[in-house]
Amino acid sequence: MDPKNRKQRLEHLTAGYSQAGLPLTTQRRALLEVLAGRTDHPTVDQIFEELSVILPEVSRTTVYRSLDVLANLGLLNKVEHPGSSVRFDPNTEPHHHFLCSTCGGLVDLPTESLAGSNNIAFVGEGFGEVEEISVLVRGRCSTCAAKA
Ligand SMILES: [Zn+2]
Ligand SMILES: [Zn+2]
Repeated sequence: MDPKNRKQRLEHLTAGYSQAGLPLTTQRRALLEVLAGRTDHPTVDQIFEELSVILPEVSRTTVYRSLDVLANLGLLNKVEHPGSSVRFDPNTEPHHHFLCSTCGGLVDLPTESLAGSNNIAFVGEGFGEVEEISVLVRGRCSTCAAKA
């Protein structure tokens, strides 16, 4: 990842913690560093694995709890798609995803690839107001497509 991007994400996350009045403990700081460095929408297990290299004493429960806190603060999105385990996304801007059905890789779709999709006209009864549109494109990533 672009190191500048990573730094910005880290600053955004740490600022969120202090706004919420939560002290930035060594554990929290390490967790935020792991999160800021990843754009692959890691699962709890992947985050735990990476974090336990830096902090061998950290427990899975602590990681779960901290991720929930971050999600509740709006600093992290939980990405839940059918057929895929819950993933965590530090990109909280509205965006869409591409899920590889072969390797399970989840990547952000560039907004341009769905330009205009936020203006979908809903026809029918029962749609009051649209708050969010989240599109999942399923397929094979370039790595998996090349292997096939
Ligand atoms: Zn793939
Ligand atoms: Zn994402």
